[in-house]
Amino acid sequence: MSLKSLLPLEAASPAYICPFDQACSYLEAAAKELRLDQGLVEILSHPRKVVTVSVPIKLDNGEVRIFAGHRVQHADVLGPYKGGIRYHPAVTLREVSALAMLMTWKCALLGIPYGGAKGGIAIDPKSYSVGELERISRRYISELIKDIGPSVDIPAPDMGTSAREMAWMMDTYSVNVGHAVPGVVTGKPLSIGGSRGREMATGRGVMIIIREALADRGKSLVGVRVVIQGFGNVGSAAAELLHQAGAKIIAVSTGAGGVFSKDGLDIPALKAYAAENRKSVVGFPQAVSISNADLLTLPCDVLIPAALENQITGENVNKVQAKMIAEAANGPVTLEANQLLGVRGVTVLPDILANAGGVVVSYLEWVQGLSYVFWDEERVNREMENLMVRAYRQVVQQSEVRQVPLRLAAYTLGVGRVAQALTDRGLYP
Ligand code: GLU
Repeated sequence: MSLKSLLPLEAASPAYICPFDQACSYLEAAAKELRLDQGLVEILSHPRKVVTVSVPIKLDNGEVRIFAGHRVQHADVLGPYKGGIRYHPAVTLREVSALAMLMTWKCALLGIPYGGAKGGIAIDPKSYSVGELERISRRYISELIKDIGPSVDIPAPDMGTSAREMAWMMDTYSVNVGHAVPGVVTGKPLSIGGSRGREMATGRGVMIIIREALADRGKSLVGVRVVIQGFGNVGSAAAELLHQAGAKIIAVSTGAGGVFSKDGLDIPALKAYAAENRKSVVGFPQAVSISNADLLTLPCDVLIPAALENQITGENVNKVQAKMIAEAANGPVTLEANQLLGVRGVTVLPDILANAGGVVVSYLEWVQGLSYVFWDEERVNREMENLMVRAYRQVVQQSEVRQVPLRLAAYTLGVGRVAQALTDRGLYP
């Protein structure tokens, strides 16, 4: 029986692109390239555990509201499940299942000893008070107490969550088990065992992979024209680091809309502006406004989709003028668009490589916690950079050896390592 029949179909409109189907298609393409046994592919196309819990909380006005909290554990062949928890109105069980599968391949590709998982609640965090968000986070994690733990499943921040939510979750887990367990989550505040460099890590990883890819093409970051969709944790950190390295960020957007300046945006000033304007960049002086749709089709050297999945689709892909796309978000390019970009020779730096900096520093945080020794930021950044560059080189080499695009190369490495481990471990009973 396929998982497709087990997961509820959340949207039936003809334009709906199921993220889980897409994730399975990439798995199947990698499996075909690797000539994997069909039984193995069947195992890997099903998450090992899918949990949906009821999260009832009392709102500030006294009303009780129930939320559905998901956690999908895809595969723990290589180690404990690892992956973020997303708070966003578009969260669905199929999306979380797809993202959990991507985490499995991402961790395997980076050579870190984790499996893949993802969690999520379909809420807009901006619509709730801090107190309400705290109650939601605490109740959600308390419902998952038996399913998570430092050697079982280690959540982390994702879209809509941050160190603040991780602290609430770490505290809730610890109080429930009766002692402090900092290793149950990563992306924590420094005060309870978080790692230096974690907040900027995903954006830093995006910068590193773009820098390496440009270097392979004889270019540097200096003067490169960059467009970024999304100015949250990942997009803003990538913007800041690329700007520092001399790139020209010509356009940036959030869900509310974007801004464009052909001479390049002043990123520190834009960050300060967004911080004062409820995270929106709209109305930023010395720039013209631009819609999200137009931003994606601007002429530029590097386009960085750093928001949601399915942004570059069969509909708009032919208008995309970027020479290189770095997937800071998970799954921002649809399967169809990916194929068309390949035909046109556009370089796509795939999500499981380009945005892996976050989980890499999560791993470094976990390692520091387990060894009770904490590093300075320079060391964290150096160790992360080594792992990112190593994975990048392996992907490029794989792409050359197999004569396949970078995404398929990355998938063959990630899927291949998990398949090998599964073969070595054998199928119980
Ligand atoms: N949410 C991030 C991701 O999608 C980080 C996950 C983690 O640190 O475990 O990769």
